[in-house]
Amino acid sequence: MKAAVLHGPGDLRYEDVPDPAPGPGEVLVRVRRASVCGSDIYRITGPGGAYHYPLIPGHEFSGEVVGAGRDGQRVTVIPLIPCRQCEPCERGQYNLCDRYSYLGSRRDGGFAEYVAVPEANLLPVPDSVEFEEAATVEAAGGALHTIRRASVQPGARVAIFGAGPIGLCATQWALLLGAKQVIVVEPVERKRQLAMELGASATIDPTEGSAADMIRELTDGEGVDAALEFSGSPGGQSECIAALKKRGVAVFYGISHRGLELSPAHVDRILRHELTVRGSWNADFSATASNDWRIALDFIARGRLRTRPLITHRFPLSEAPSVFHQLAQPGHEMIKVVFEVA
Ligand SMILES: [Zn+2]
Ligand SMILES: [Zn+2]
Repeated sequence: MKAAVLHGPGDLRYEDVPDPAPGPGEVLVRVRRASVCGSDIYRITGPGGAYHYPLIPGHEFSGEVVGAGRDGQRVTVIPLIPCRQCEPCERGQYNLCDRYSYLGSRRDGGFAEYVAVPEANLLPVPDSVEFEEAATVEAAGGALHTIRRASVQPGARVAIFGAGPIGLCATQWALLLGAKQVIVVEPVERKRQLAMELGASATIDPTEGSAADMIRELTDGEGVDAALEFSGSPGGQSECIAALKKRGVAVFYGISHRGLELSPAHVDRILRHELTVRGSWNADFSATASNDWRIALDFIARGRLRTRPLITHRFPLSEAPSVFHQLAQPGHEMIKVVFEVA
């Protein structure tokens, strides 16, 4: 089969490789659409971004099951493969598994014509959902998980830092949950425009000054109940904390790979204003947890959550090496990139 194979940092090649052989409990999925996650850019172009080489990256994809008594079934794929034995797994908190594997990171993923996938990781997709939308469920589910970690209530004021695909989904979730004001902080104009089209109350360009100060101005001096960080920048993280009202919650989802920049005033604010800072990683998908994946897919299928407008670029998979070269350059205007595989 054809696949985009990562041979080293920045060395992605579109080439022929043997078809994967499904192990026990696994099926073969013929990939139709695979989308690019922000984490793929660092994984593919960053130094030591992958656990091992060669690796077929890609963990946000959809396609059809081959054989296994369900030939042709349309599915999207949950990339995290939990051990199902550790304590978090026993509680159904698969995203916190101690010994997980991961398609497209720890083992071969979806930038290929075929992928071997544990049957338990398949999520059937209704006919009303296009394959490219089905390749955005991870972003929608991660955004929902993050909103849940912030306990957003009806009437809340919410700030979203970073209007990439996950931030734009979080903007919509906040509105669906009844937030009265959703302020999106984003330096790229095209992304700010899209945030407004998807219902944001206001947008802020953080290159024009302190985002936290501007958020305070927009909220009658109060600040927001919840600030969600998707940009993965230390500046965004500290501005999130500075933008909160008393007893507010900041949730970090974007990966910064750097330290947290906290001034003495920030530290003071955390304790005097009784702020909460939380992390959010991946999404829930067990039957015993609130299943972010199923809910996200259901909202997409019913047209309540729109991920199609986030898809700004479509390329054949053969162009993956040059597309990642472009994605590694700052200032590009691509939001969600989808590879058409078959
Ligand atoms: Zn992802
Ligand atoms: Zn586990």
